[in-house]
Order: sequence, then C-alpha cells, then structure tokens
Amino acid sequence: MNILKMPADLPEAILNPNAEVVLQKRYLKKGLDGKPIESPKEMFWRVASGIASMEENYPNSSWKAEELARTFYTMMTQYDFLPNSPTLMNAGTELGQLAACFVLPVGDSMDEIFDAVKHAALIHKSGGGTGFSFTRLRPKDSRVGSTGGVASGPISFLKIFNTATEQVKQGGTRRGANMGILRVDHPDILEFIRAKEREGDLNNFNLSVALTEKFMNSVENDEEYPLVAPHTGEIVEYLKAREVFELLVRKAWESGDPGIIFLDRINRDNPTPDQGEMESTNPCGEQPLLPYEACNLGSINLARFVTEVDDVRGVDWDRLRQTVHLSVRFLDNVIDASEYPLERISQTVRRNRKIGLGIMGWADLLYQLRLPYDSRRATSLAEKLMDFIQKESRSASKALATERTPFPAYETSVFKKQNLGPYRNATTTTIAPTGTLSIIAGCSSGIEPLFALCFVRQVMDGEKLAEANSFFVQALHEAGCHSEKLMQEVVEKGSIQQMEFLPEELRSVFVTAMDIEPQWHLKMQAAFQKHTDNAVSKTVNLPNSSTQEDIYKIYWMAYEEGCKGVTVYRDGCKSVQVLCTGDGK
Ligand code: UDP
Repeated sequence: MNILKMPADLPEAILNPNAEVVLQKRYLKKGLDGKPIESPKEMFWRVASGIASMEENYPNSSWKAEELARTFYTMMTQYDFLPNSPTLMNAGTELGQLAACFVLPVGDSMDEIFDAVKHAALIHKSGGGTGFSFTRLRPKDSRVGSTGGVASGPISFLKIFNTATEQVKQGGTRRGANMGILRVDHPDILEFIRAKEREGDLNNFNLSVALTEKFMNSVENDEEYPLVAPHTGEIVEYLKAREVFELLVRKAWESGDPGIIFLDRINRDNPTPDQGEMESTNPCGEQPLLPYEACNLGSINLARFVTEVDDVRGVDWDRLRQTVHLSVRFLDNVIDASEYPLERISQTVRRNRKIGLGIMGWADLLYQLRLPYDSRRATSLAEKLMDFIQKESRSASKALATERTPFPAYETSVFKKQNLGPYRNATTTTIAPTGTLSIIAGCSSGIEPLFALCFVRQVMDGEKLAEANSFFVQALHEAGCHSEKLMQEVVEKGSIQQMEFLPEELRSVFVTAMDIEPQWHLKMQAAFQKHTDNAVSKTVNLPNSSTQEDIYKIYWMAYEEGCKGVTVYRDGCKSVQVLCTGDGK
C-alpha cells in the first residue's frame, strides 16, 4: 500500500465533537507513548490514498490513484460514506488488517479448539470480530477416545473463548466481540439457551441458536424433534419443539440472549455452495460467512442524500448512485489492501471477494422527509431504496469484473449457474450496526430509529457524550415550538409522544425506538432484508411491560417475513444499557 503525499490544497476534515473524542481515543495512529501522531485529516488521507493506491494493480482502470484518493477523501470527510472501523484504524499501518467480520470453524478436537482460540486472538488484536459455530463439538459427558475421560461440551469451551477474548484488547483499541452459534438439534442445546442466564456470564459473546425449517415445522405442529450427537450422528434424545422454542423466548425476554438465526435461509442465499455451508455469522449477526472467511463493510450515510426541489424533499438518487459505485470500488480495493491474520483466511477471502455495502442515517432520512418510521410509506421507501442500492452495487461489481476479473470462484458460483454474468464480488450488500461509524458521521445508526431525541450516549470506558438530533431541533424551530424548557423536558423523557401541546405531525414523525410498536421494527428489518445479499443488523426494541407472548409473535413474524435472524431487547432487562435517556443512569 502506498500512502500518497498529501496535496497542499486538501480541504480540512471537519469533525463533530463526539467524533473528535472517538477518533482521538481509538482511531488515530499512535506513537510509543500512546499519544496520537496524526490529525484526523491525516487519518482520512492515509485511508483514502492507501485504498486508492490499489488501483495501480489494475492497468485497465480509468482512475489515476491521486484523483481517486481525493474522491475517496471527499466522500469520507463529507460523511457520505465510511468504511468499517478496522479500515479506518489500520489502513496503511503495520497491522494492515481491514475487515470487521470473520467466521472461524471449531473442530471436535483439542488441537482444533485451541487453534480457533489462537486465531480468534489474532483477529481480535487486529480489530475484527469473530463468529463460531460450536455445533461440531461432542456433547458434554460423551466419551473421549484418547483418554477414556468425558468431554466437557461446547458451553465449557465457550467460556475459554470468552476468557481469552477478555485478555486481548483489540489492537489496543476495542475489546473483541464474538458470536457463538449452536444448532437447535445439538444435545447441549438447553444448556446453551441458558448460558447467559446470569448477568455478566459470557460477556464477550452474543449467542444465537441456529434454527432449521424442520425444527420450525415441528414447533408449528407441536411435535418432538431429535437431538443428534455431531461426532457419531446418533439420535440421543427427543425434545418437544414447542417447549424449546418457548424456553428460547423466555430467555430472550429475561436478558435479550440468545437470539436466533434461520440457518436454511442463510444457506439458500449462499452464492458459493460448493465451498461449504455457512454455519455462523459475525458478532452482530449481519454477515453470514463460510469458515475462514472475512468480509469488510462500509456504510453510506443516507442523511446526506436529501434534495429539495420546489419545496418538496426527496432522495437524491443520482448522487446516491455515484456514491454506491465509488463505495463498491473502495471496498473491492480494501480486499487487496488488507492483510489477514492467517493464510487460509486470505485465500478464502480472495476467492469470493465478498463486500458488504450498507447504510446508516436511515432514521435521519425519514425525519428529513417527514415520514414516520412506523408507516407503510417508510417501509415502501426502505424496499425501494435498498433495491436501488443492491442493483447499483451489483452493476458496479459487474463493471469491476470487466475492468479487473470476476471473483475467482465465480465459475462454480450460483451466478454462473443462473447465467447472471460475472461479478467481481460474491456479495455486495450488508446492513451493519454502524455503532461507531454513526458517531463519526454524526448520524443515526444503521437502520435503527433513534433511541431518544436528546440523549446521553455512554461509550468507551464510561465516557458520556450528549446529543440532540439536529433534524428534530430544526423542525421545532420551523414549527415555532423551540424553547430551552422544552428541550430540557425532552432530555428527561427522550420522547415527545406524551406532549400533546406539540403539533400532531411533529409527534408522528419524530418517533423513537420505544415509541414504535415492535411489529414495525420487524417490518422495517424485513423490508431491508428483501434486497440485501447478506443480513441486516437490527434490534427489535420492546417496552419493559411486554410479554413473552409478544416475543413469540416477533420470532414467528421474523420467520414468516423472510428475515435471516432476529434480536430482541426488552427495555430495562439488563442493568447496563449502551444508550440512556436522562442523565445516563
Ligand atoms: N465489531 C467488533 N467489535 C466491536 C464492534 C464491532 O468486532 O466492538 C465488529 C463485529 O463483527 C460487528 C462489525 O464489527 O458485527 C460491525 O459493527 P459496527 O458496524 O457497529 O462497527 P463500526 O464500523 O461502526 O465500528
């Protein structure tokens, strides 16, 4: 990678105060004394020019590296698009690992288990998150041939992964995140469902149960289903499917864990099935991958794509198209620029060249267009918009296949079989949570509604950041309702739904996560999933008063609406929450 000389006339990078804190703390290159040795402007240039310099590998490219570096720089510093955190942190540095998402296999032997622990540690050190399926591990108390002892089972090994993660701070920046998956027909499934019962247990893991369609049919018909020992293939027990499903629901009601993923659906969308099955996702669930595969993500900030013609606001489709095409080029270059912690991962990644372009600032876009999140008009726009991004990203990937070459596994992929023409990337779209990117860009995260209109955000070691949504403040001014007293009240309440003195339109548009019926959260997720290659990160927020029955319905709806998984969170069910209204208590 080649960091180009910074042009003298390069515009400054303007940061919001929260972004300033985050960049200083985690993203800027640091010297031996731990102090930043680059400015935010230098950081964005390091990333823009490093990624643009990959262009030199491709003689057919119509871009000059310097010109592309400037274009990438502008795209990032205007906060139209940002690549995932490891790219910002590591492009052009010694670590050089640029992807956020990895999946590692865990085999049923001591060697394979501890290899996976070691590989995960290397990935965490470089800022990536890891997902694992523990389904291949023999159940607790089964025989161990070589010693005559008994196996301790997937859950005890999960604890080892968890402890190892605790000790490896990610590249001195963030703590490793993990996803742990177990198939619903593994004999230790009940213990797995209960594994996070006590608060604080397995704190570095999200857990999800991999559900099969066969299992879902058994729930529907109130039948028993078999548990199968993975190492022998023998059926060891039968459980009532409905009871297991209800336990899942109860635990999710109590603590938010575990979530669920729909394994058959994920594998139906596997573009390269000859290379194996997908058995896990990355930590936040949006990226299913093959074992030893990684994926780099990037997100377009929709808050920046509003135009106004004759007083009518709409989406700026032309600029969005251009940004999608540039983002695909950026993310494809990231694959070449990245160094991966294992040769095996490099090979898998470069065979399929998956990228995950997604969005953030969706709630901000809806605020600007004055569309309530919980409305058919909003879900229709979600479908239209993601369909557009999906088609344009595919068309960009096709153009890159002509300019460069198709991804090496294209010949045996579903695209070839379906005569869809060559692509540069086996997948192009993923909707990430954008937890930190959205702070840097100063927009709402991913496709989530705002948690509160004014809030105190707790990030990084208890640090607190205060935020008021700028579109809300602007709308209050426009409606002539703005006052300091009102703002103070909104900080305390988070929501304006009870403020009947405010205009009806204002209250219906400026809704927050807790104002929205859980079904609408799910409908929004499903609308985006329809046109997303990989998966969609979304939390279905429920009020504290919601019942297990409500969660049951959401799970079932997620299954019927074609989601690849679902995560619910009932307000107040954990003592520490990431986002808090009021004074952060
Ligand atoms: N991730 C991680 N550790 C973290 C946050 C994120 O490993 O503390 C990984 C994980 O794979 C997650 C992905 O990054 O699914 C994307 O998360 P997000 O979009 O929130 O990351 P950002 O790029 O905003 O930091």
